Amino acid sequence: MLWPGFWPHQKTMLVNVMANNDPVSISFEFFPTRTAEGARKLVDSALGLSRYQPEFFSVTYGAGGSTRDGTLATVLSTQNETSIATAPHLSCVGDSPEQLRELLHVYRQQGIDRIVALRGDLPSGMGYERGDLRHANELVAFIRSETGSHFHIEVAAYPEVHPQAPTMDRDLENFRRKVEAGANSAITQYFFNPDSYFYFLERLQCLDIKIPVVPGIMPITNYTRLARFSDACGAEIPRWIRKQLEAYGDDTDSIRQFGTEVVTRLCEGLLAEGVPGLHFYTLNQAGPCQDICDNLGFPVA
Ligand code: FAD
Repeated sequence: MLWPGFWPHQKTMLVNVMANNDPVSISFEFFPTRTAEGARKLVDSALGLSRYQPEFFSVTYGAGGSTRDGTLATVLSTQNETSIATAPHLSCVGDSPEQLRELLHVYRQQGIDRIVALRGDLPSGMGYERGDLRHANELVAFIRSETGSHFHIEVAAYPEVHPQAPTMDRDLENFRRKVEAGANSAITQYFFNPDSYFYFLERLQCLDIKIPVVPGIMPITNYTRLARFSDACGAEIPRWIRKQLEAYGDDTDSIRQFGTEVVTRLCEGLLAEGVPGLHFYTLNQAGPCQDICDNLGFPVA
C-alpha cells in the first residue's frame, strides 16, 4: 500500500538534493556466512551493489574471534570479485593482543587499508584475560601503535546512546577517547529518528570533535528481526513505524514496501542536510538497499 502523494513530492525533492550537493560517499556492510551457498549469495549481492560505486564494503567480525577466518575470506573474495575496497571489522573483546596483532599484519599484507575498530560484545561464558583490550579506544590506540597511520580507522557512534552507557555525556566522553586515540571517521548505529543524529553532531561540535560521522542505515524488511536487533542495540523504532509494521503481520510485501518508503524518506532528509555519506547494513541482501538507492536517484555505473 503506497502512501498517497508520497512519491511525486519525493522525486521533486531528490532532484534538489542531487543538484545542490556533492556526490555522497556510500558503503555497504556484510557479515561472513558459514556455507558455500551463503558465500556465493553474498558475492552476488556485493556485485549488485557495486553498481552504485560505493567507497567501500565492510565485513563484520564475530567478537571472540568466531569469524576470524570467515571475515578475512569474505573481505578478500568481495574485494576480488567486485574491485571495491573492502574493510574488515575488528573487535577487541575475546581476542588477545597477539591475535589482533597477527590479523593486522595479515590485513596489511593483503593491501587492506581501512578497518572498522570496535569493542564488540563479549560472548556469554567468555571472560577477560589479563592484558586484553576492553574498550574500542584501546583498540584504536593499539592499531596505531602497531601500524602507524597505515589504516583509515572507522569507529562506532551512538546517536541514541550506547545501551551500556550511564549517560549521554559519558558516552560522548568515551567517543572522544576513540577520536583522540586516532580514529579517522565514524559510522553510527542505525536510527529512525534523524533528530537524534543531528543532536549528536551538535554535541560533537560543542566538544570540538571534527571527524565525519556517517549515518548507519538499516533497511526494514522483517519486523520480528528488526525488533529483536533494536532491543539488543538500543535503537528506537518510533511508535508509528512499530504500529504500522505490527499491523502488516505476515504481509511481507507490504512491510518491505512501507519499510522502503520510510527509510528512503529518512535518507532523503539526511542527504538534504549534507551528511558525509550513508552506510547501509545490508544483512547480505542487495534488493532492499538497491530499492532505496534507486529511489534516492544514486547513479549506477
Ligand atoms: P566502545 O566504544 O568501547 O563503547 C562501549 C561502551 O563502553 C559504551 O557504553 C561506552 O560509553 C563505554 N566506554 C567506551 N570506552 C570506555 C572507557 N575507556 N572507559 C569506560 N567506558 C568506556 N560488533 C561486533 O561484534 N562485530 C562487528 O563487526 C560489529 N560491527 C559494528 C559496526 C557498527 C557501525 C556499529 C555501530 C556497531 C558494530 N558492532 C559490532 C557492535 C558493537 O561491537 C557493540 O555496539 C558494542 O557493544 C560496543 O562497541 P564499541 O566499539 O562502540 O565500544
